[in-house]
Amino acid sequence: MKTNSFRLIGLITLLSMPVLASAQRDGSNSGALRGFQYQQPEMGTVFQLQIWSADEKEADDAAQAAWDRIDQLNQELSDYLPDSELNQLCRRTDSGPMKEPVRVGDDLWNILSAAMEAAKLSDGAFDVTVGPLTRLQRQSRKTHTLPDRQALKDAMSRIGWRYVKMDPAHHSVQLLHAKMQLDVGGIAKGFTSEQVVKLLKQRGLNHVLCGAAGDIAVGDPPPGRERWRIAIQSLKNPEEMSDYVAIRNYGISTSGDTYRSAIIKGERYSHIIDPRSGLGLRKRIGVTTVAPHATTADWVSTAISVLGAEKGLALVERLDGAAARIVTLDEQGHEKVYESKRMPQFLIANPATSAPKPDSVH
Ligand code: ADP
Ligand code: MG
Repeated sequence: MKTNSFRLIGLITLLSMPVLASAQRDGSNSGALRGFQYQQPEMGTVFQLQIWSADEKEADDAAQAAWDRIDQLNQELSDYLPDSELNQLCRRTDSGPMKEPVRVGDDLWNILSAAMEAAKLSDGAFDVTVGPLTRLQRQSRKTHTLPDRQALKDAMSRIGWRYVKMDPAHHSVQLLHAKMQLDVGGIAKGFTSEQVVKLLKQRGLNHVLCGAAGDIAVGDPPPGRERWRIAIQSLKNPEEMSDYVAIRNYGISTSGDTYRSAIIKGERYSHIIDPRSGLGLRKRIGVTTVAPHATTADWVSTAISVLGAEKGLALVERLDGAAARIVTLDEQGHEKVYESKRMPQFLIANPATSAPKPDSVH
C-alpha cells in the first residue's frame, strides 16, 4: 500500500481539503490503540482515512483494503470511465430507450436506489440523470462559454429521474429514454465513505473516519473522546472556520462552490446544476448536513443547494436524524445563516473561541 499512498502521522496536512488533524497525529498512544492516517487521490479528489489500531500492520492492511474498495467503486460508478458499469448501462440507451430491464451489481443498485429516493424526496432538485448537463458544463469550463441554446435544449430533453425504472425484486434497472447519461457525482463520495467505514468495522476497526473533500463518514470517535470534531469553513472567508460539528457513527457533507465553480463572462456558476434551468447555480450558498448515513448527508447537501434555504430546511426536517446549516451570501456579501431544528445538538463552540483542534475541516 505504501507504494501508492502515504502516511501522514506527524505531518501537518492539506489546508484546502479536509484536514485530518487528529490529536494523535504526533503518534502519541491512547491506551493500546494508536491513530494512523492515510490519504490518496481517488475519484478525482483526495480521500483521507483515519484508523485506530493496536497494530500498525493491521492498520496498513485495512487501509489497503479501503483503497481497493474505493477503486472498485470507481470502476463501477464513474461517469468518466467509458467502461464503468454505470456507463455501460447508459450506453444501452444510445439507440433508444431500453426495451428490457437489466440486472445491475449491488453497488450500482444501492447507489441508484438512494439516488431515486433522493429525487423523490427533493422533488427532482437532486437528479442523477443530469449527466447530459454535467457534460455540457465540463465543456463550458474549458471554453469559458455557456452551452448554446440548442445543445442545452437537447440535453434538457434527456433528463428526468422518472425515466429510471427500478425493480427491487430483481435488482434491475431500465432507462426509459434515449441517450441518457447518469452522473452519481453528487452522492458517490458520501456513499463510498460510508462503504469504507463499513468495511473497516467488519475488520474489527471501529474508531475510524473516511472522507473525501466535503463528504465524510465516521465510526466511533478516537479513543477517550465523545465525538469526532469536524470544522466547517466559512463560505465568505474559506480560510476561517465558522463552526465545529461533533458526530459519531454519522455522515457529514458540505456542498458549496468555494472550490468548484466556473466564471463565465464575469458570472459565477457552481458545479451544482439546477435541473430546471440546466445551468450551474448562480446563487452563493454553502450547506453542511449531517445524517446517520453519509450517503444521505451527501445528496441532501447537494439538494438543499438547489432548493435554497427555506425548502431545504423543510426537506431536512423530514429525514430521520438529519440536520443542516445553510449559509447564503447575497451580492453585497451579507451572510445569512439558517439552521434546522436538530442542528444545535451537533454544533460545538466556534473554533475561533475555543482551543481543541478539529479532526477534519471542510
Ligand atoms: P462536491 O463535489 O462539492 O461534494 P456535491 O456533492 O454537491 O459536490 O455534488 C456535485 C456533483 O453532483 C456535480 O459535480 C455533478 O456531478 C453532480 N450534480 C450536479 N448537479 C446535480 C443535481 N442537481 N442533482 C444531482 N447531482 C448533481
Ligand atoms: Mg453531494
